[in-house]
Parts: sequence; C-alpha cells; structure tokens
Amino acid sequence: MAGPKRNIDTSVFHRAPKTKLRTAVKGDGPYILDDAGNRYIDASGGAAVSCLGHSHPAPIRAIQEQATTLAFAHTGFFTSNALENLASFLTSEAPGNLTRAYFTSGGSESVETALKLARQYCVETGQAQRSRIIARRQSYHGNTLGALSAGGNLWRRAAYEPLLIGVTHVAPCYPYRDRGAHETEADYGLRIADELEAEILRLGPETVMCFIAETVAGATLGCVPPVPGYLKRIRDICDKYGVLLILDEVMCGMGRTGTLFAYEQEGIAPDLVTIAKGLGAGYQPVGAVLASERIYEAIVEGSGFFQHGHTYTGHVTACAAALAVQEAIRDENLLDNVKRAGSWLAEGLNMTFGAHPHVGDIRGRGLFWALEFVADRATKAPFDPDKKIAARLKATALDHGLICYPMGGIIDGRQGDHVMLAPPFIVDDGHIAEIIGKLEATI
Ligand code: PMP
Repeated sequence: MAGPKRNIDTSVFHRAPKTKLRTAVKGDGPYILDDAGNRYIDASGGAAVSCLGHSHPAPIRAIQEQATTLAFAHTGFFTSNALENLASFLTSEAPGNLTRAYFTSGGSESVETALKLARQYCVETGQAQRSRIIARRQSYHGNTLGALSAGGNLWRRAAYEPLLIGVTHVAPCYPYRDRGAHETEADYGLRIADELEAEILRLGPETVMCFIAETVAGATLGCVPPVPGYLKRIRDICDKYGVLLILDEVMCGMGRTGTLFAYEQEGIAPDLVTIAKGLGAGYQPVGAVLASERIYEAIVEGSGFFQHGHTYTGHVTACAAALAVQEAIRDENLLDNVKRAGSWLAEGLNMTFGAHPHVGDIRGRGLFWALEFVADRATKAPFDPDKKIAARLKATALDHGLICYPMGGIIDGRQGDHVMLAPPFIVDDGHIAEIIGKLEATI
C-alpha cells in the first residue's frame, strides 16, 4: 500500500539541498517499490549491501524472534547466544588464523576498530614506535575521521584536512590505466606491490604499523580485482618488515565475489579483515573485524583487553539478523549462484557494451561489476568530472527502473566515471537480462 506523500526537503540533511529523492516504501526480492508505484530492480543493493534481496523471510524471522526475547544487552555486562554464534560462524569460515571477532555497527566503525587493534598490538608487543599507516591512492575506507584519513579519495578528504598524521598512500592495483603496454599482469602486480616496499623503506620499517587495502577495490576505483600474485607479494612484504596487513572487505566481502571472503581467492590471509554491508544484508546495521590469534593473544597477555568499544558493539538483534543472513546464504547455496549469475552478468555486459565508444573497461568478480566510462575509448581519456557521468547515469537509470551505483572518478574521486552493479545473490537469468536491458536503455 502506498504511504502518504511527504515533503522530504525539511528536517534531514542527508543529501545536497534541492536533491529530490523518491520515497521507497517496499522491498520485494530483487526489487524496491516507491510511493508512486514504480518498481526498480535493485542492481546495486545500496552499495553491495542487500545480498539476500529484500524481504527475505530468514532474517525477518530472526529479528522478530530476537527482538521479542531480548533486543539488546550491553556487551560490558553480558554476552549473548546471537553474538557468540555469529562469532563462531565467521571465525570458522574465515581462512587463515582469524580466530577472533569484534562486532561493530558498520564499515567505518570496523575500519576504526581494525586500526586501533593494530595500534594496540604494536604497543603491547613493545613496538610503540610503529604508528604509521600505509594505504592506497583512490581507496575508500569509510567516512569517520580515522577511516577517512586512511582512504585515498582526495575529494572526500578535502574539506576535512588536516586528517590523521602519519598516513601515506601508494599506488592501487589498477591495471586498466597503469599497466605498461608490454607488461604482463603478473609483472605489473609485482611492480605495484614493490611501491609498498619502497614506501616502508622510505619511512623506516620500524615506524610502520600497517598496510590497509581493499581486496577488490570498490567505491572509488570501481570493482578492480587484484592481478594474480599482487596480494601474495604484498603479504610477503608485510611479513618481511613486520607490518600488519589489514584487508578491507566491507564492500567486496561476505560472498560478493563468489567466496565468503574475497582474499580466499588470492591464496593469502590478512592479519585483520573488516566486513560489514553484506554481513547483515541491510536487515540490521552490523559489521565486524576478524583478527588473528597472534593479535588477540598479544593484547590479552599485555594489558589484558582491547581498550575500545561502542554502545552497540555486538548488538544482539543485529547479530541474530546477520547470522540468519549468513545461514540462508549457506543453506540456499547462494555462493554457487553468485558464480553462475556473475558469469551471465559478465558475459552480458561484455556482449552489450564491449564495443561501446564510451565504455573503457568492464571489470569485476562474482556479482561485483563496474563499467568505467571514458570520453574516448582509444585514448582512455576520462570524462570531464563536471559532466557528472556516473551521477547522470544513476538518475536516468532510476527513470528506467534500474538502481545502479555511481562510483568515484579517477581524477579526484569526485563525480565518478564508474557505475557499479552488485545485484542480490538470488538473481536468476531473467533478472540479469532485465538489468542489462535497462542499463542499455539508460546508456
Ligand atoms: N570500507 C569500504 C571498502 C567501503 O566500501 C565502505 C563503504 N562504502 C566503508 C569501508 C565504510 O562503510 P560504512 O559506509 O558502512 O561506514
């Protein structure tokens, strides 16, 4: 039933002034409906959030049951079955020695938590001089001050400078633009990874706390999987200099690329991994950091506990919802569908847009794909940011009943040259065809 129309330009400041938003009133599988009766296929799930689609009965039931019995209990006083069960699920599924989970309310909080864990680990192990963070240019790690400081999106950072001191950035793995004409992908990956080693040496290895990177680069760069061997080399460099490796899988994790953790496909494990978005699939705000036993032990044997915490850490209902989401993904074999539907999506995008004069690159993994738009396909010249290509595509797509996500641009991350497609894991071939057809009409 359509709700009453409201004047939405009044009391909130979630958006730029004069931006008119449609009012969402219902979710139904891969669709969102608005109060004017329009139906949109949700091909981005916000930004890779709604992996189960909308109105999935499993998390709804879990939320109802949990909220009825116990909605919230502060983790300073109690643990809960929901929290413990979710922690066991995640730590038993995560490859590598990631044996400990810390729950948060979302992605930025997960990144803050990981950075503070890394810092406390260094302090507890007698390496207090290690405080520097190395991240990558054109990365996105969230909007709170610590996470924003780590991120390399110049446009998002600009208004808030100066940010945390001691953060520097190295090149991301971005073969579409940066790989030499005669360079193999593997050679390119090693060359880019070596920038990290050079930066560690420049700073002094004994001062570097961590390197943080998105396993598959998301919001600013647009769904760029690492080239083979790149992350292995990164892992080796971090080990060589005693630098902690934090992989940020807030966007690309929790099955989005076809395995529960994207790093699984790289044959390595980080010291810390951040997750959120798909963890709760939008049914509840929830994120987590998984940490290696080594980090946990150092802290416990040192001062005894992690000196951190938020009121909603380990929120009972949020953990119950997330567990139900993850069990539904497992029980319905949805990761198989991510691989299957992902290959249809990749094939459809390449067939439909592979020769388009303004589509420079089509890339991704699983159900995590982006199109990079260019002014000139031959020279790869980017669009003028003032043309707001991705923002215009987003708006036109809505008119066509398609939700696709505009991503940051290569010039400064501002208006964006990419759109992302990250549909729910439940999509079938008909939904994929609908997404591609509507995107074609939009473009
Ligand atoms: N890290 C990455 C890789 C992200 O993509 C995002 C959000 N797009 C964040 C962190 C921040 O997450 P949140 O918006 O939930 O705070």
